[in-house]
Amino acid sequence: MTPRGRHFFANPGPTNIPDSVLQAIAHHTVDFNGPDFLEIYDACIAGLKRVLRTKQHLFMYTGSGHAAWEATLANLFSPGDRILVIETGHFSESWGSMARDLGLQVQSLPADWRRGVDYGALSAALADDRAHAIKAIGAVHNETSTGMTLDLPRIRAALDAAGHPALLMADTISSLGSIDFRMDEWGVDAAVGGSQKGLMLPVGFSFTGVSEKAMAAHAKSTLPKHYFGWTQMLARRHRSFIGTVPIALFYGLRESLRLIEEEGLENILARHHRLAEAVRRCVRHWSGNNGPQLFGLAPERLSDSVTSILMPEGHDAESLRRRVATMNVALGGGLGRLGGKVFRIGHLGDLNEPMVLGTLGATEIGLKLEGIPHAAGGVDAAMAYLAETAP
Ligand code: PLP
Repeated sequence: MTPRGRHFFANPGPTNIPDSVLQAIAHHTVDFNGPDFLEIYDACIAGLKRVLRTKQHLFMYTGSGHAAWEATLANLFSPGDRILVIETGHFSESWGSMARDLGLQVQSLPADWRRGVDYGALSAALADDRAHAIKAIGAVHNETSTGMTLDLPRIRAALDAAGHPALLMADTISSLGSIDFRMDEWGVDAAVGGSQKGLMLPVGFSFTGVSEKAMAAHAKSTLPKHYFGWTQMLARRHRSFIGTVPIALFYGLRESLRLIEEEGLENILARHHRLAEAVRRCVRHWSGNNGPQLFGLAPERLSDSVTSILMPEGHDAESLRRRVATMNVALGGGLGRLGGKVFRIGHLGDLNEPMVLGTLGATEIGLKLEGIPHAAGGVDAAMAYLAETAP
């Protein structure tokens, strides 16, 4: 039977799409080379650069975040180049294995997934690399599988302190528009993002913000590329997209940028932080009776866009997810080696207090029905926090 009521989508991506964005996307087809569309297109590029906080280059692709990952690697490197990927979880592993498949040497900076990387080990790896064989650092700003963030300014500072010329590549796929990110100020050379998370759009395009320094590296790169080639793109009016431009998504992007600028980036970050903290208060409460607990063990690294929750030993996160799904609530599952062990609550994008409380309430019902130990009343803890911090 078709479930009644609104679907509560609490997976950390894709995310909820505001009604006004959905309506904007429902646009008839127009000529993507025509003056009316080009005006919208140019305004969208300028707006997206403001969200990335960059005045440098931006290349866009019709494809999900993986497309931007691949485009970034193919445009910056040559076969056999070495990159250093900071281990954060499933997505750092996947980006690293993609780089290996493309013919790069991938050095991993290992880290405990629950505690996060030791920045001292990063400085040591950079100091060891006296020959500057490492061409770039790959950093997943917000690791969507573990719900932990990387401190990008600290990584920039480690590079500067070591006098190391490696590029800094940041995956902002689940941080942009929900967690503070500043491409130019933080000296990020390649910032990878996608449409379907903080930008509140359907899956469909992804992009890379590219610094002047990275453009110089691109000029020397020999990995094969064509559809993703930045040089090929620069020859086109749109300076992106080899092929047909995803027109409808630009009508949606124009509206989502309007919403973002109306609310203001600072307010958006504050809203995300407050809703995330409500989720954390709830989970900390549940953990009281040997219940599910926050997966991340370093409080200052916990993500404001997604919370990963570790199940008590012997209990399956997938059964809980199935139970909660009967109430028309979609939780995120554990990825890679965390499959069955964690579930995830996405709290990014178009979200408010009742949506968070509804998700937490359904999850607490699920815990009870599945016989999973927990301290009841987590939702009360979240409500108390939200009441205390009401704007
Ligand atoms: N990087 C991060 C941090 C992600 O969260 C995701 C997807 O969730 C990806 C990369 C891959 O993006 P996509 O699934 O859009 O290809």
